[in-house]
Amino acid sequence: MVKRYPCLEVDLNKIYSNTKIVKDLCSNHDIRIAGVIKGFNAIPEAARKMVEAGCEWIGSSRIEQLQQMKEFGIKVPTLLLRIPMFCEIEDVVNYADVSLNSEKETLQKINDEAKHQNKIHKVILMYDLGDLREGVFDRKELVELAQYVENKLENIELNGIGTNLSCYGSVIPTTKNLTELGLAAEEIEELIGRELEIVSGGATTVLPLLVKNGVPKKINHLRLGEGVVNTQDLPLHWNTEINGLDKDTFILKAQIVELNKKPTYPIGELGVASFGEAGVYEDRGIRKRAILAIGNQDLGDSSKLIPKDKNITVLGASSDHTIIDIDDCDKDYKLGDIVEFNILYQAMLFTTQSKSVYKIIKNN
Ligand SMILES: *Cc1c(COP(=O)(O)O)cnc(C)c1O
Repeated sequence: MVKRYPCLEVDLNKIYSNTKIVKDLCSNHDIRIAGVIKGFNAIPEAARKMVEAGCEWIGSSRIEQLQQMKEFGIKVPTLLLRIPMFCEIEDVVNYADVSLNSEKETLQKINDEAKHQNKIHKVILMYDLGDLREGVFDRKELVELAQYVENKLENIELNGIGTNLSCYGSVIPTTKNLTELGLAAEEIEELIGRELEIVSGGATTVLPLLVKNGVPKKINHLRLGEGVVNTQDLPLHWNTEINGLDKDTFILKAQIVELNKKPTYPIGELGVASFGEAGVYEDRGIRKRAILAIGNQDLGDSSKLIPKDKNITVLGASSDHTIIDIDDCDKDYKLGDIVEFNILYQAMLFTTQSKSVYKIIKNN
């Protein structure tokens, strides 16, 4: 059988061992973890590996992915990460066991639907500590909302509170801001007369603080995607190296369809390129280059590719073509050769959902 390209190899054992390493690290700090699957479009086999490695919840921002998990037979509770839309309340109660929330009116609708389905739905109320994406901004308001859920909404269980940082405002999780979360949790516990099961400190970007033992004791839950399945950002942007994490969980392979020498500076009057933006070109004379049959429709942004061959430079891409400079390579590339890449988060997001990229699930 002729192998088809472009393809994405998903290494399940690496996903398992990465998850296990991070899970053990978190366990040492009495932190339980939810495995987040939205970054790889909920490839079910990968989700199952995360569960086997110790994720006690499977989370996604997209309700249809949680539905897929239920249908695939994932047994741990599902966690909806994006604040629910009014139009999806029925599905939320159907397919999410727990959801993150911040709006009273939405909570009322969830309560009504849960009553209708004869279920108890769990919620984690979000507290905005300055990143300015979702969450109740004012602590007093958060505490009142928690009391309202606890005392007035019969079919909702107040499971805990949580926060989300470094998503919009690029605010870094610190001992200081996470202590605020812990204090809010304690205030709520005092008022409702019981402990909250979950105090959820955030996502992968909390790991750098965790390895420095800076996460306050009160935090007992994290929601982790990138940090276990695509670990390249931690050393790249967060100066954090967790021993043993393997970056080769997803390998993208694309085929060369044109190979030649061409000038490096375009000839003619310059306007804009495929996506309406002016390109940036450096005149480096005539150089050897190749075109790969994959493009930004599959990748999002070709700059999120990291060539395995360190002498390759990605020059750019249009929807369906990616141009690479191979002039400095030791390897003598030929037409039809396959070029391999690590992919950053955005490219993982896009390639996993591209119908043109074949998925190869490796399990040994
Ligand atoms: C995406 C998401 C996460 C997981 O983020 P990673 O960076 O992949 O760990 C956690 N919480 C919320 C609310 C999210 O939207």
